[in-house]
Amino acid sequence: MNGNTGNRSTFHLDRRDFLVASAVGAATIAMGGLPGMAHGAGPLALPPLPYEENALAPVISSNTIGFHYGKHHKGYVDNLNKLIAGTEYADLPLEKIIVAVAGKADKAAIFNNAAQVWNHTFFWQSLRANGGGEPPASLKQKIDADFGSLEACKKELTGAATSQFGSGWAWLVLDGGKLKTMKTANAETPLTAGVKPLLTIDVWEHAYYLDYQNRRADYVSALIDKLINWEAVLKNLG
Ligand code: MN
Repeated sequence: MNGNTGNRSTFHLDRRDFLVASAVGAATIAMGGLPGMAHGAGPLALPPLPYEENALAPVISSNTIGFHYGKHHKGYVDNLNKLIAGTEYADLPLEKIIVAVAGKADKAAIFNNAAQVWNHTFFWQSLRANGGGEPPASLKQKIDADFGSLEACKKELTGAATSQFGSGWAWLVLDGGKLKTMKTANAETPLTAGVKPLLTIDVWEHAYYLDYQNRRADYVSALIDKLINWEAVLKNLG
């Protein structure tokens, strides 16, 4: 047996754990202003929408938001509360529940509902009325440095959102100090990948079907051009 290999492997695990802890810490801070994310004793609350249900129309109709926030997001919160009641997870902050159960086959239901609660709260924060357009100057500089241009960044994000096969999410993340895009399937979240989430786009059909039917690309393109909250991205970047 080679002792160095063992040491390297231990170091690698420690580093990954550190990165996950950092990402979760940053995400917790980013979400700190929302009631329900910092979870004390008692059931998790559905965090309030940061705007009125009709604020994103016509890109996303109030009908879609009504179902998406009022039924889907709320459903994940209610399911999670039932699943964790009386368990060791009952009083943990949401981010800690997600990391604690990630990759555990017998805890998949808790992971799926917890991650979907977090992803949706983060999604609502990623959007705003009259969004899109030019990012704040310091963010624009970082985007230019890491993608070459804002157009290239948007193109990559569009690619991630349209190429995710089936349900999932497209993300802008900070990975080792660099901006990158990624996509995740179903409830999967970058929180467990050691990268810091900055922005997300929900590409589950429930996010767009009432307004765009099967035209995911039209939904993604309208959202990126008209709803992205670049100020929130900058704030999440820290
Ligand atoms: Mn959704």
